[in-house]
Amino acid sequence: MVEESLTNKVAIVTGARRGIGKAIALKLAREGAKVAVTDISKEDCEEVIKEIEKLGGEGLALKLDVTNEEEIGEVVKTTKEKFGRIDILVNNAGIIDIEEIGDSSKINKILEVNLKGVLKSCNAVIPTMVEQKYGKIVNISSIAAMVCWPKIPSYSATKGGIIGLTKCYAGYIGQHNININAIAPGPIETEMLDDLLKKLGMTREQVCQGTAKGRIGRPEDIANTVAFLASDESDYITGQVLAVDGGYTAK
Ligand code: NAP
Repeated sequence: MVEESLTNKVAIVTGARRGIGKAIALKLAREGAKVAVTDISKEDCEEVIKEIEKLGGEGLALKLDVTNEEEIGEVVKTTKEKFGRIDILVNNAGIIDIEEIGDSSKINKILEVNLKGVLKSCNAVIPTMVEQKYGKIVNISSIAAMVCWPKIPSYSATKGGIIGLTKCYAGYIGQHNININAIAPGPIETEMLDDLLKKLGMTREQVCQGTAKGRIGRPEDIANTVAFLASDESDYITGQVLAVDGGYTAK
């Protein structure tokens, strides 16, 4: 008999209308979780819910701009009203932009979404997890926090900030049976990577050569790791950052 690892669990995924977030939402649903699929555009989230329902799963499409604390509060409230609890939070929403040296015009926006959005979402969900004495938080960082990708200093800094936040919270929410970990994806085939490569004038071949595996990652590579970190199989792992990068940072 095949056993699903997340049966009866309830998850919230941010930035889940497309790309890595969508793959995470679908994987968690396949593993039996009920998933609040959230993003700036609710319409696209509804499309993801249709796919979840086709898999025989259950979910909820909700609008959530992670810079908006009121909306985060609403998502927590609505998810609890609908499904009774929140076991898993995946902070996936993120933005990237190119910055030349001397350009400080983009840092605030990137900081608001990539770092403050993660902190605010954690803060909104942790009290529920403390009450339940159970929770799994997975934050999506980036290998850009560990090695140089050119012309993305604010992005890299915010992704490094996520690692610090993850370790800080791990140290004192572990006692409430809450795990918090970060994943640092390498290059993953999504619209974000496509845009970035165009802006940097980089080819896919160059990116592939940077990895040990010789390929760009798939959103599912990240989703599978999220499912593991959201499950009880990883119960003794907390405060860690796991590079899922085809060996990019090892090479
Ligand atoms: P993506 O295709 O651009 O998806 C990101 C999603 O987040 C989009 O749907 C986007 O909506 C949404 N979003 C943006 N601002 C938001 C906000 N304020 N509130 C809620 N949602 C918001 O990117 P991806 O490649 O799947 O990336 C997902 C995560 O992985 C990001 O955190 C990214 O930094 C990280 N990552 C990606 C790669 C990669 O190679 N793809 C590598 C390392 C890390 P809009 O499209 O409307 O802006």
